[in-house]
Amino acid sequence: MAIIGIDLGTTNSSCGIWVDDGVKLIPNRLGDLLTPSVVGLDDKNNLSVGRIAKERLISHSDKTVAVFKRLMGTEHKVTLGNKQFTATELSAIVLRSLKEDAENFLGEPVTEAVISVPAYFNDNQRHATKTAGELAGLKVERLINEPTAAAIAYGLHEKQEGTFLILDMGGGTFDVSILEFFEGVMEVHASAGDNFLGGEDFVEAMMNDALNQLKIQKSSLTPQETNQLLMQMETAKRRIGTKEQQTLDLHLGKNHHEFIVTDEWFSKIATPLLLRAKRPIERALNDANMSPQAIDDVVLVGGATRMGIFRSTVGRMFGRLPSCHLDPDCAITMGAAIQAGLKSKDKALSDIVLTDVCPYTLGTDVVNENTNEGGYFLPIIERNSVVPISVTRRLVTAHDNQKQMRIGIYQGENRLVSKNIFLGNLTVDVPPAPAGKEAVDVRYSYDMNGLLEVDVKVESTGKTLNKVIEQSPGSLSPEEKEKSRQR
Ligand code: AMP
Repeated sequence: MAIIGIDLGTTNSSCGIWVDDGVKLIPNRLGDLLTPSVVGLDDKNNLSVGRIAKERLISHSDKTVAVFKRLMGTEHKVTLGNKQFTATELSAIVLRSLKEDAENFLGEPVTEAVISVPAYFNDNQRHATKTAGELAGLKVERLINEPTAAAIAYGLHEKQEGTFLILDMGGGTFDVSILEFFEGVMEVHASAGDNFLGGEDFVEAMMNDALNQLKIQKSSLTPQETNQLLMQMETAKRRIGTKEQQTLDLHLGKNHHEFIVTDEWFSKIATPLLLRAKRPIERALNDANMSPQAIDDVVLVGGATRMGIFRSTVGRMFGRLPSCHLDPDCAITMGAAIQAGLKSKDKALSDIVLTDVCPYTLGTDVVNENTNEGGYFLPIIERNSVVPISVTRRLVTAHDNQKQMRIGIYQGENRLVSKNIFLGNLTVDVPPAPAGKEAVDVRYSYDMNGLLEVDVKVESTGKTLNKVIEQSPGSLSPEEKEKSRQR
C-alpha cells in the first residue's frame, strides 16, 4: 500500500508520492498542489478546509482559523463557532483532507504517511504531529525534519554531491541544516533554528509599526479588521522590490487611512528579524565546524525565502547567491515523498542512506556539588548527535538517607533547567544510604523520528523504570482521541 509524504506547513500543506523513479505531487480536490492550512466552519456548521476556508478568513473570522501550527504541542484551544479545538485537532482536519485527496487521486486507501516537521520542533510538538496523523487515520511511519526533506529532494533531483546549507523559512518557523551528500549517503552535520521566526513575523511587524504610526491601538481592532490588515500587509510584503512604493488604503474603525509602504520602510522592519535569522546560521556552521566558504551550495526552501531582503542578507553572509532551483513551496513535500519511498523500500531508492541529527540537547537536572543548589542542567544527549542514539549517565544521591530520586527530563541549551523545556519526570525509590552511595543509570534513547525514551535503573536493587515521553502538553487521552475522531 502506498505511503504518502506530507508537508504540514504553517501556511500551506501538500502531499506527494514516490512513483517509479520520481515524485508525483498530488493535487487536491480543487486541482491545487497547495492546500492552505486553514480550517473553518461553514454556514451549516460543517468543517471546511483549505482554499474554501481561507476565502472566509476575513468575512467569517470567528469561524475560521489559520497559523495554528504555531500552537502545536500546547494546550491552547481555539474556538470555532461553539466548538473548541486544539492545534493537534485542527492539524488532523487538514491531514484528513490531504489523505482523502490522495485516496481520490490514487484510487486506493491511504493509511500511512511520512510527515515533515521543523527540525527545531521539540518533543511535545513532534508528539502532537504524530497524534494529529493518528486522528486523521494515518499511521505516521516517520517524522522527517523539514530541511532534511528539502535536502534529499535537492540532492536527488539535482543529482548533486557536496555540502549544502539549507535555509528553510516558512510561515512560522526557521530551520537551518548543514548536510553532505556523497555516494548515496545523505548525512546531516548540524541543525539549528528558531521555532518562532517565519514569514508571518514580518507581516506582524509591518502591521504593528503601521498601527504605531497611525496611533491606533491593536486591541481596538475587530478580528475582521485585524485579518484584513494582515492580508493587506501580506500582499504588500510580496510586492516589495517590484514597485517603488505602494499606497495601502486601510479601513480601520470608521476611518480610512492612507499608508505608504516603501522598500526602505520594509527594510527597517525586517532588520531585527533578519538579525535573529543569522544566529542559527552561525550556530549551525559553528556546530559543524565549518566556515561559510566550506559550503558548496546554499539552498533556499520555504515561501518566506522569496523575500529579496532575505536573499541579499544570505548572499552577503556567504559571498554568493543562494540556489533556489526547486520550487521552495514543494521541496519539502518532495523530500517527504522520497522518504516515504525509502520506507516502502522502493528499488529505485535502494542505494540511498539517510542519517539525521538531534537538533537540541536533552538532559536532566542535577544538584551543583559545590553550592548544593539544585536546578542545574546535565546534558545527556548533546545537540547535533547523530540519531538514533542511546546514552547512559550515572547519577548518585545528593543527600544522606535520600529515599527517592527524581529524574527531570529537559530539552534545551541553558545551564539552568528552569530556562529549558520540561518534558516529564521519573521517580524511583532508592534504599537509604549516605549521600553519593546510591546510584541510578539513566538512559536516554532518541529515535529517527526525534522522539525520546528514558530508562532508569537503580544500581543496588536492579529496579527499572521506563518512560516514553508522551504525556506532553496538548497530547490527548485515548477517550479524547476517540471523541475527536467522531467530530
Ligand atoms: P510556507 O510555510 O513555506 O508555505 O511559507 C509561507 C510564508 O512564505 C508566508 O509567510 C508567506 O508570506 C511567505 N511568502 C510566500 N511567497 C512570498 C513572496 N513572494 N514574498 C515574500 N514572502 C512570501
